[in-house]
Amino acid sequence: MKISDLPYDVVLHILVHLPVVDIVHLLSASRALHSLKLEERIWKDASARYGVCDSTFLGNRSFYIVYTRLLHVYAPLVGMWAGDHSFTGHLIEFRLDPGDNGETGSIVGEAWKFRSPEPEDSDDSQVEEHPCFVCAIKIGFSAHPEDDPDSEGLVRISCCPDTVTPNDVHAGHIHVLSETTQSTFLHTRSGTFKHPDFPEAPLDAWHDKSRAMPRLRPTPQATVDQTSLLLPHPRPRAPVLFAAPSDVPKPAALSISCEFGCLQSHAPVLGFPNRTPYPSRYYPLRLAPSPAVNPFAREWQPAHLTGLWLSFYNMHGTECIFVDWDAAARRLRGLKVTGDEHVPRGALTWDVCTDPCALDPSEHQQLFAHALDEKREYRLYRGVGTTSQRGFLPHQREYTPVILAVISRNELRVFWLDEGDYLKYHRYEGRSTRPERCHHCE
Ligand SMILES: [Zn+2]
Ligand SMILES: [Zn+2]
Ligand SMILES: [Zn+2]
Repeated sequence: MKISDLPYDVVLHILVHLPVVDIVHLLSASRALHSLKLEERIWKDASARYGVCDSTFLGNRSFYIVYTRLLHVYAPLVGMWAGDHSFTGHLIEFRLDPGDNGETGSIVGEAWKFRSPEPEDSDDSQVEEHPCFVCAIKIGFSAHPEDDPDSEGLVRISCCPDTVTPNDVHAGHIHVLSETTQSTFLHTRSGTFKHPDFPEAPLDAWHDKSRAMPRLRPTPQATVDQTSLLLPHPRPRAPVLFAAPSDVPKPAALSISCEFGCLQSHAPVLGFPNRTPYPSRYYPLRLAPSPAVNPFAREWQPAHLTGLWLSFYNMHGTECIFVDWDAAARRLRGLKVTGDEHVPRGALTWDVCTDPCALDPSEHQQLFAHALDEKREYRLYRGVGTTSQRGFLPHQREYTPVILAVISRNELRVFWLDEGDYLKYHRYEGRSTRPERCHHCE
């Protein structure tokens, strides 16, 4: 029996589960499989699994081309990715843009951008901002198939800065970087310290290990050791970030770049000089769905808070927090997916025990005056919050008492008892619930 005699859904099942194999190469290597190219129904079905049912705005290319060249390789990009940029982190969201009369369809990667707060609004604007989506990279076909140098359809990757005209396209690059033990260290007057890795167990609940990488051959990553560069400067005037190997393994990751370096300009600016020569690594970010359970209903559990939340961290602006529930330890943890020079991405921002807690009367009054105002119902959990001086060096970190109040299924407040301050957290509900374009940070 030939493979081409198999029912097409069986063949499809085999093909879509092929690992990093180049599916196009496989099809051309076998004459029996080659005939499958003409079975548009197979490729249309395979494309429909990724939501592509129409190739009008993909230059009317065949579904064989659309699937094998674009979707099979790059559709795993669709979703959220968290970058390991030192201190700040960085988020990129990929989605499938079906295209329209003005624009060719593509897989588009958009950077999340938040406004940097002004000094005068650090006191009163306690509500987080929604992200702006800044186009960073596009993966697709040319608008006209006749422009392709080969009849098979060539996937083009380009960066999308506002300044680029159609005749002046920047080549973009998507690579899968191999696993690595490369780490970043901070060289300071009081010694050198490893910067928290990202991801680093056990604070890696945000990392979605079930999501696949694009089907590209991984680029090997040699580890860099810049320790010798520091020897002439044992006590630097200002802390410097440098590269050295560690014993913390990081899995394969995505790298996203433009030949002219445009993508770095989307990430927040870092105040520390950074000597590290390697590209930023992006990892799949878990987006836990939000169950519609009222937190004051009997069936509610702390696990229902799992997912991505946004909060306005005063002078640092809006940051993204992954809330994780550890059932065994009965603890609810806020993990920073993006961070700042005081408490960086990858660090714990707070950690509370979900056993019911009692308040003493003065705490109770303080909480009501500040954090709970008119709220009638809430759940209160006690724990610690992380603060640090700039640099997050081990001796700078402090763990101060906090009380977390669950206000609704989409709102938390964390009251920092020593500071007499509180932060509001709102669940990130996805981008469809709001207008997609805003102009306040352009
Ligand atoms: Zn490349
Ligand atoms: Zn560019
Ligand atoms: Zn904006």
